[in-house]
Formats: sequence, C-alpha cells, structure tokens
Amino acid sequence: MIYSYSAISTFENCPFKFKLAYMDKIKPLRKNIESFMGSRVHEALEKLYRDKLFAKIDSLEELISFYNERWEKEMHGNIFVVKGYEIENYRKMGEMYIRDYYNTYKPFDDGRIIALEKRIFFPLNEKYWINGIIDRISEKDGVYEVHDYKTSLYFPSLNELDETQLAIYAIALQNLYGAEEIELVWHYLAFNKEIRVRKKSYEYIREEIINKIEEIENAKKNGKFPAKESALCDYCEYQPICPLFKHHYKINEMHVEEVAEEDGFNLVNKYWEIERKIDELEAIKEEIKKKLIDYARKNEVEHIYGSDKMVKVKFYKNFYFRDGEIVKKLLKKEGLYERFSRLDFVALSKALESDVIPSYIKEKLKEIMEEREIIRIYLRDLKREE
Ligand code: SF4
Repeated sequence: MIYSYSAISTFENCPFKFKLAYMDKIKPLRKNIESFMGSRVHEALEKLYRDKLFAKIDSLEELISFYNERWEKEMHGNIFVVKGYEIENYRKMGEMYIRDYYNTYKPFDDGRIIALEKRIFFPLNEKYWINGIIDRISEKDGVYEVHDYKTSLYFPSLNELDETQLAIYAIALQNLYGAEEIELVWHYLAFNKEIRVRKKSYEYIREEIINKIEEIENAKKNGKFPAKESALCDYCEYQPICPLFKHHYKINEMHVEEVAEEDGFNLVNKYWEIERKIDELEAIKEEIKKKLIDYARKNEVEHIYGSDKMVKVKFYKNFYFRDGEIVKKLLKKEGLYERFSRLDFVALSKALESDVIPSYIKEKLKEIMEEREIIRIYLRDLKREE
C-alpha cells in the first residue's frame, strides 16, 4: 500500500476531503489563491537552483519575470480568494518572498545541490510505502539538508513546529543515500527566516505515521469519512461537493424565484421562524416563573392552584464544589468514588472507534450494545459574505 504524506495530513485535517481527493479521485473544483501563489514561488525557486546546476546564476529580474509569466499562464477563473484582498496583492507577496530569499541567499552556494523536487518512495514497514516530493536536498560537510519552502503567513515557534513531513523525508534520505547526519530546514519565506532542526535519528516518526495509516485503513474498511468543519474549510477546494457546503452552492446558482421554491431553503426558514417563536415563549415562561416564585415567597405557599393544573414551588439548597479534582481525590482516598461517579457513555462510544480499548474488550462490549443513529439539528447564523 502506497501513501503520500499529503494524503495522511489531508485525512487528519478532514477525512471527507481525503475521501474526495484520494479515494474517488475527484480533482479539486477550485484552487485557493494561497496555494496557487505557493506553487508559483516553488517553481521560481526550483528554477533558481536548477539553473545553478548548469553554472547559471539567474538575476533577480529574470527570476521575477519567470514567476510572473508562470502566474499569467496558470491563472484561471477557478482561483478563489478567502480574505478581503485582491489577487494582485498575492502576486506581489510572492514577488516579495522571491526577492527577499534571493537577496538573503545569493550566490546560493551554501552546500552542494543533491536533488531538486525529488520524488521519494520507500517502505515504512513490510506493508506500507510512502511517497512525497522534497523541495531541495543539499549536502554540506557530510551533513544532508532537507529544505522545504513555506509560504504560510504563520511563523511557528519551535514548540509548534510540525516536524512530521520533513522527519519522514529524513528517513527517506537514510534509505536513499545512507545519509547519517541530516538537518531539516524550513524556509518561512513570508518572514525571510529559516528554522533548522537536527536530530540523531528521525525514527520516532515512523510509528506515528504507521498508526495514522492504520487509522485511514480502518476508515476505508468502515466507510467512515466524517466531514470535519474547521477554519481550514474556508480554503477547501472541495466545498462545492462537501456535505457541509454543497447546498449553499446549489442555491447560489439558482434564480431567486427557484430558491424561494427550494425545499431545504423553505424548511430552514420555517424551522427558524418556529425557533424564534419558541424563544419568545421561553422568555415569557421565564418571566412567569419568576413571578410564581415571588408569589410563593410572599404568600408562604408551596402549591399554587390554577383551573386544571397547579404549580409546585420547591425551595431547597444544593452544594457547589469549586475544585472537582480535589473532590475526586478525597473520595478516592476514602473509597467512596465509585459510589458517586458515573460512566461516561459518550466518551466510551467514541473510544470504541479508536485503539484506546483493547479488541478483546471491544468484542465483549459488542455483545451487549447496539448501534443507534443520533440525529441533532442546530440553527446557526450564516457567515456574512465578504
Ligand atoms: S469544506 Fe471542510 S469539511 Fe468539507 S471537505 Fe473541505 S475541509 Fe472537509
């Protein structure tokens, strides 16, 4: 089984997106401007180092005009912008990244180029193979360097840095070249900064990746690819076919008269209308409740009678515990915890889909459980269009 790092990270980001991209082989329907600009910048830096292999140092002007030519050639109508900026702003940002990089690293002779846009393909274990593309591999004083260009506008701290991708590439380098000393280099182009990490071994990542692949394989077996809504959805190329957004695209493409007749559109509006009325009634109910309590206090009664119903007003005191952990410890120490703690069935249901619970226990639980579909409906405000 062959896996690419991008497949694994896509699955983590959103299993449904993974399904669309890798299992159904559906091509993205649109592309976000950030990744479009990132591709053009990568191409320019690849050209810079490829020409250097032929003893040609590109001038900055040459490189910028190559970038702009590629920009013009590849630009099409399906490029979308999420933030409130123009496409031209992004083109200029890419130019700036190339310019800063060029001026910082000129004459580009810090290490010997070993490979550019190198496709790697190697076994993680006897079952799984991994492939990916390394932006640049270089070598200096016997140390191999894995270079990766990032055009993200977020500069991570060392604690936040996700080493996974480059650590896999480092393992690949050990396989490919028998490299012993390997340094990982991230170029954060928007900040004109690089982050370097050098470890004795990157083997720690192998098991992590194998676990993630097994998770994907289990999802494939069980057909479970839930759509995972996150801030990244704004940048997702699959929105028009994602269950979270496709209805929005459908009604946006309809004429106003057609939209007014559309079942889903009408049902949501009716549901909202009813929710509003319920909220109004709830507010009135709360008001009456307060008045009933006042009445009960003032008149020293606990039962208040109407025509067919009566209301009971009960006054009693309860305790509030400020620190749950201390309470837990105390009860445990005194052997009373079991008596007052409750089993969390929601957490248990979730855990059944992971490896937290050993399979022999899962089998025993299966004998006494049944799967039920839970359906919840929430009303939510639409995001204001930019
Ligand atoms: S829009 Fe969001 S939930 Fe839908 S496929 Fe893309 S990332 Fe997943």
